[in-house]
Amino acid sequence: MRLRIGHLYPEYLNIYADRGNIAVLTRRAAARGHELVVEPVTVGTALAPEAHDLLYVGGGQDREQAMIAPDLASRRDELRAAVDGGTALLAVCGGYQLLGRGYRGRDGSWMEGVGLFPHETVAGETRMIGDVLLESALPEASGRTIAGFENHAGRTLLDPGASPLGRVVAGYGNDGSSGFEGCRVERAVGTYLHGPLLPRNAWLADLLLSWALAHATGADPEPLEPLGDALEDAAHAVAAARARARGGRPA
Ligand code: GLN
Repeated sequence: MRLRIGHLYPEYLNIYADRGNIAVLTRRAAARGHELVVEPVTVGTALAPEAHDLLYVGGGQDREQAMIAPDLASRRDELRAAVDGGTALLAVCGGYQLLGRGYRGRDGSWMEGVGLFPHETVAGETRMIGDVLLESALPEASGRTIAGFENHAGRTLLDPGASPLGRVVAGYGNDGSSGFEGCRVERAVGTYLHGPLLPRNAWLADLLLSWALAHATGADPEPLEPLGDALEDAAHAVAAARARARGGRPA
């Protein structure tokens, strides 16, 4: 299969080498005989709801977010239609914030978001930085853990009843107090975890790929054939141990 990936604002949103997530998807798709075609979607580029099997939005600081926020928000109908039509989506940190209703910065400014994820974000006075360990809250992956690194001033509050990506075992997560991290809507996942995220959470890369394949074929998602993931598992274990050494959720 040829899988079509739309990479939103690659030149603005790529903090902590977040584009590494695409490299992981490309390699893991190729190992199963699939080709990933990555197309940048940026200011002035059209985005057709049916054009991609997976959409990716990386992280960026407030300055970069402000540069692309109006363009991103103007695509709310196309993004909603894409996700309603079964397109997979991964959004990290700055991208995750802007896919919610919006982000209020330290200076009180309001960046209007896409409204895809049921949340709102407000910048706090301190940054939430460090290794994170989550228990997956995805029904497709109960018992799995997710390891990563967070660095954000924004506190993201999920609406009541919203589905998080995970429950915080160690680290801050969405807001430092709810115990939730990330958000999930249909086949769209948002998270604060950088690092990049997918090299040390190979199962999550495969889940996203299985969703992208399901979109491409119109069939139900099927688990992918396993790969030898010794290095990926070792990377996950190192990150998980560092997060655990923080001693649970900081106050
Ligand atoms: N605006 C974000 C913040 O809360 C940016 C974080 C990021 O993408 N690292 O700090």
